Amino acid sequence: MIEIKDLHKSYKTGASSLHVLKGINFSVKEGELVSIMGSSGSGKSTLLNILGMLDEADEGTYTLDNFPIKNLNEKVAAKYRNKFLGFIFQSFNLINYKSALDNVALPLYYQGVGRKERMDKSFAYLEKVGLADWAHHLPNELSGGQKQRVAIARALASDPKVLLADEPTGALDTKTSYEVMDLIQGINDEGKTILVVTHEDDIAHMTKRIVNLKDGVIIDDSRVNQVRAIENV
Ligand code: ADP
Ligand code: MG
Repeated sequence: MIEIKDLHKSYKTGASSLHVLKGINFSVKEGELVSIMGSSGSGKSTLLNILGMLDEADEGTYTLDNFPIKNLNEKVAAKYRNKFLGFIFQSFNLINYKSALDNVALPLYYQGVGRKERMDKSFAYLEKVGLADWAHHLPNELSGGQKQRVAIARALASDPKVLLADEPTGALDTKTSYEVMDLIQGINDEGKTILVVTHEDDIAHMTKRIVNLKDGVIIDDSRVNQVRAIENV
């Protein structure tokens, strides 16, 4: 599903340059649930943003679903992003003046899905994340855990090949974090490929494989026995 080879990325700020990713190699198969671990500043978000086609590497190759991601114009990149990828962020990134339902429906609107189908699909995804009763509420009427559930429903709405989550539990308390991880585990159980960036060990152990990043290189990449989140809620 995902294959990256010898990926490098530097940030140029004025005259100086910061080498953040220093030759990253890894691949993710369909149906995997992988965490990318590492301390703050180790390059996790940089890597995820490249995988999410929000940024481009300086060197190396990236293949997503057998399609080489390289020098795409913004229009093609946006099309692939919409089709292949769903994003979940630490800060939820919901639109404050739109209802939970309308937030979920937004990616479908951009895909040109008609209103009726858009609303039916979005409602079904809200039901799936346990928020049918909250469909017409605004984000500021929801708890942090509920907001993240809306964001997850939104990420699923376009049925992407891969879900990319950058610290999805970073703004949540432990119990709520585990509830969100339980939802993510359930989505993976159904076959969805998911990458989760985290710096928390307990969250990483709720995935099936941990990729450890340090100073821009992978220092460890191991399968783990998945801890089921529900047992810790
Ligand atoms: P992590 O997500 O693991 O905390 P990041 O990938 O966000 O790490 O950042 C890695 C390093 O790159 C950090 O030192 C950060 O300050 C730097 N960095 C990230 N984004 C930019 C940017 N747009 N411009 C310059 N430096 C950046
Ligand atoms: Mg980060």
